[in-house]
Amino acid sequence: MSRTQRFLVKVLPGSMAAGMEAESRSWVLHCEPCGHDTSVWDMGGVRWKAAGNPRRRARCSNCGSWTVGTLRRNA
Ligand SMILES: [Zn+2]
Repeated sequence: MSRTQRFLVKVLPGSMAAGMEAESRSWVLHCEPCGHDTSVWDMGGVRWKAAGNPRRRARCSNCGSWTVGTLRRNA
């Protein structure tokens, strides 16, 4: 976990922390080169109570390449 994630898990009540993690995991960034979806949580980020589809630059957890893509909800 990243520092941000550890901090939030520590300060939030258990059920809220679980919801935050689940929601962060449901947001994914698609990697064009390999087709893998990396969740925001796996990138060390948190996306919670948020809407919209922002563009992010992140490293793919599968092939390791940097990709710029649109975050989408994987629900
Ligand atoms: Zn990839």
